[in-house]
Amino acid sequence: RHAIEVKDLDLHYGEKQALKKINMTIEENTVAALIGPSGCGKSTFLRTINRMNDMIQGVRIDGVITLHGENIYDKTIDVEVLRKEVGMVFQAPNPFPKSIYDNIAYGPRIHGQNNRKALDEIVEKSLRQAALWDEVKDRLKDRATGLSGGQQQRLCIARALAVEPDIVLMDEPTSALDPISTAKIEELIQDLKQRYTIVIVTHNMQQAARISDKTAFFLNGELVEYNDTETLFSNP
Ligand code: ADP
Ligand code: ADP
Repeated sequence: RHAIEVKDLDLHYGEKQALKKINMTIEENTVAALIGPSGCGKSTFLRTINRMNDMIQGVRIDGVITLHGENIYDKTIDVEVLRKEVGMVFQAPNPFPKSIYDNIAYGPRIHGQNNRKALDEIVEKSLRQAALWDEVKDRLKDRATGLSGGQQQRLCIARALAVEPDIVLMDEPTSALDPISTAKIEELIQDLKQRYTIVIVTHNMQQAARISDKTAFFLNGELVEYNDTETLFSNP
């Protein structure tokens, strides 16, 4: 089943065209890596998938993006519901200046979950899924900003998972981290694809080769190659 289908996507920032005729299909339970030089449109593409580009002044988007068959630029789409279906993890870990518990409970509370026991369960489940539970279970009331960089990023992943999205977008999630934290998150991403569809922007070809099923090469706003990672990286 298609998790994400992009047809003839063009994006302009004013006069500047940042995406040109992008066509791409991403299946469920896939890790798709977006690679290419700085400024080629990777982040812009990622932000069109959860409509984060809408807010930018002067943006024009043409083409069709469907998530599980639903056109997300349709007038009837509730952007709040879309945000629940599509989680986002950013380059620099950005936990809220709150407790570990409140970081995870934040999204579910916004969506109306206020039952303490239910929230306890969501917090534990999300932290387990992000391979952080054992490290933080005895200090859930501590400030999230006291965690190490790698732990903070896993917390941000747990926070994204807490609202049970179908798709998780990650914009260079390891580029601010040391090699050991990076390896942990790479392992985690491969576990997560059993439940989620993951789209990850990376500067790092080796990382794409290690963790992705599909690789998309962007160049000057165009998708110049999109194929199975194994096929792309096995050719001499
Ligand atoms: P990448 O993620 O591959 O580094 P970006 O998607 O950030 O590339 O940028 C693609 C192009 O669009 C670049 O030329 C960048 O300067 C431009 N761009 C990105 N965001 C904006 C914006 N908010 N307003 C205008 N131009 C932008
Ligand atoms: P990255 O290279 O990590 O993708 P950038 O440094 O290109 O990020 O962009 C950082 C922020 O500035 C992004 O939110 C992007 O949308 C915005 N931006 C990038 N290029 C431009 C631009 N030419 N005009 C306005 N905003 C921009």
